[in-house]
Amino acid sequence: MRTVPDYFGSMVFDDRMMRAHLAADVYASLRKTIDQGTELDIGVANAVAEAMKNWAVEKGATHYTHWFQPLTGITAEKHDGFLSPSPDGGVIMEFSGKELIKGEPDASSFPSGGLRATFEARGYTAWDPTSYAFIKGKTLCIPTAFCSYGGQALDKKTPLLRSMEALNKQALRVLRLFGNDTAKRVVSSVGPEQEYFLITREMYDARPDLRMTGRTLFGAKSPKGQEMDDHYFGVIKPRVAAYMEELNEELWKLGILAKTEHNEVAPAQHELAPIYTTTNIATDHNQLTMEIMQKVAEKHGLVCLLHEKPFAGVNGSGKHNNWSIATDQGQNLLSPGATPYENAQFLLFLCAVIKAVDDYQDLLRISVATAGNDHRLGANEAPPAVVSIFLGDELNAVLEAIETNTPYKGVEKKLMKLGADVLPKFSRDTTDRNRTSPFAFTGNKFEFRMLGSSNSIACANIMLNSAVAESLKIYADRLEGAADFETALHEMIRKTIKDHKRIIFNGNGYDEGWIKEATEVRGLLNYRTTADCMPHLLDKKNVNMLTSHGVYSEEELKSRCEIMLENYCKTIVIEANTMANMAKTQILPAVEAYASDTARSAAAKKALDPALACSYETGVVRRLSVLADRIAEKTEELETALLSLGDAENVEAESAAIRDHVLGLMSELRLACDEAETMTAKSYWPFPGYGDLLFSVH
Ligand code: ADP
Ligand code: MG
Repeated sequence: MRTVPDYFGSMVFDDRMMRAHLAADVYASLRKTIDQGTELDIGVANAVAEAMKNWAVEKGATHYTHWFQPLTGITAEKHDGFLSPSPDGGVIMEFSGKELIKGEPDASSFPSGGLRATFEARGYTAWDPTSYAFIKGKTLCIPTAFCSYGGQALDKKTPLLRSMEALNKQALRVLRLFGNDTAKRVVSSVGPEQEYFLITREMYDARPDLRMTGRTLFGAKSPKGQEMDDHYFGVIKPRVAAYMEELNEELWKLGILAKTEHNEVAPAQHELAPIYTTTNIATDHNQLTMEIMQKVAEKHGLVCLLHEKPFAGVNGSGKHNNWSIATDQGQNLLSPGATPYENAQFLLFLCAVIKAVDDYQDLLRISVATAGNDHRLGANEAPPAVVSIFLGDELNAVLEAIETNTPYKGVEKKLMKLGADVLPKFSRDTTDRNRTSPFAFTGNKFEFRMLGSSNSIACANIMLNSAVAESLKIYADRLEGAADFETALHEMIRKTIKDHKRIIFNGNGYDEGWIKEATEVRGLLNYRTTADCMPHLLDKKNVNMLTSHGVYSEEELKSRCEIMLENYCKTIVIEANTMANMAKTQILPAVEAYASDTARSAAAKKALDPALACSYETGVVRRLSVLADRIAEKTEELETALLSLGDAENVEAESAAIRDHVLGLMSELRLACDEAETMTAKSYWPFPGYGDLLFSVH
């Protein structure tokens, strides 16, 4: 029987393949590029390209593509054949080092937020040798960054790689201060837990809203939702199990470490988690995972919904971004160590994260902001839109003891002196209980839980890496010049705790009182929508921090802000148009047909016997008439509001108008339609309802 190790990574030109297919000196030189970021010379690139091509052709590949991640949030590829004519009239399969390293897709239609006028030169793609090439279908995919000729990043990978570099640089400075002279690199790692819904193809096809927008815009509550908690971790249905089995196999072939799978809280909702890996690879893998989830679903007659909120009234889908930083020697810097010195180092890195999350709450909120995710944050199914950190009682007590110079009971009731005392081991049990926190310490990593299911994880990790790099830079600047390292260290940790403890919250994030306390007492930010938060990307402090670490240029930030707001507007405008369309061409005709048939039947009954009251029919017809009028009226108001968006001065004003006018009208229209659905005979309703959708897969 074929076992998983037999085919794991079989479609990846990974280290094993490199070793097997490359000459020793070529391999050594490529390895150095991968591990240390040294430049690759063209001779080596040619040899690598040739080996890669031979390997890929043997596996049936006919084309290659530079696979990149434009600002649309999904991936892009343009296929070129290996084919090259030979003088004898035949063809040979060719692939050069130049083609491996650099590509020039005519990709001028991708959003660039003004970074590159379409008439201008094209952007180019550049190989990211730290993420292995792989075969998808019949195409060799080469993970690449996408830039303009002026050097501006047009994608999500470039800033991510830059943020990893910034973190590496500052973390190494700090490690050197602790006497670590051997670590060569510090990298951040991520394990993203991916949630999704599965419904049948037939149900999907019958809903224009799902097809146009990825979510239901109408739908009365199903009599049964998630209230019984009988789906979470429940037995996986055979059809879903078959799907997961094939999905795993496809992911494993691509070297993606899909590990855990289970049913989630809502009916039809599931989760897949891989084993964590280096951030840029995790990002590539998560993009691939989302793509393959959808492809495999198709083969099973299913549709995989990655929208953050496909159904109102049951939980939406998120993505937990488990993040940590470690040295190339395998030391996790967010893991409390065994010696006092390691613990002091751990506390400093912990403080760096605390300070980063407090100073750049806005950037973290921005990094997960989309129209879809706005439905989840703060809706008591996902963390609030207010960013805070959960540390757990033990760690919290340690920090309190340090801040106030009081004895910590965990260590024999004496004053904590950094560099002298051993911290207790924090068990997972005490650190992982809180599921409502946006940013939770879970023993040796942080779990950032605000991401939406369809988000690229690049943005969140760019902000996280950069903000932590900034804290570490401030620490290193201070400590490198300190006369007495230990005293300065102790003081700095105390100061961080004192200055930033407002961001630490160990209570229930769903509690109404928390939002009040967070905003009114602690002064934390609460940006409810994408329209609220996105413009703050360009706040001076944010621009300064991100440009000073070389993660983004100011122009790149402006372009991102513009594109994200545009996406927000376009998404909601498409939703609103779809609603208006469905209301006018499907819902109103159905309501009218049912109401008039009901009226007719009442009239027929009365003709038979004038004494009959027909109060049931009359009641239905009356209420449906009222609702039909309201639906028509709200649809018209919505269409008018959409038209007036054209008056907005710029995209920021447009997004504000959408937030203030369009969203409310959409809710009102939905409310009337959903009530009409509950009163209209099912045989008249033009599309399947929530009960059909949520329980469609057996
Ligand atoms: P859960 O959060 O559901 O309890 P786990 O804690 O076991 O699940 O793991 C969640 C994710 O965190 C997995 O993808 C796992 O690989 C990842 N993870 C575990 N350790 C680390 C780490 N040091 N850095 C980053 N991610 C990690
Ligand atoms: Mg989880």
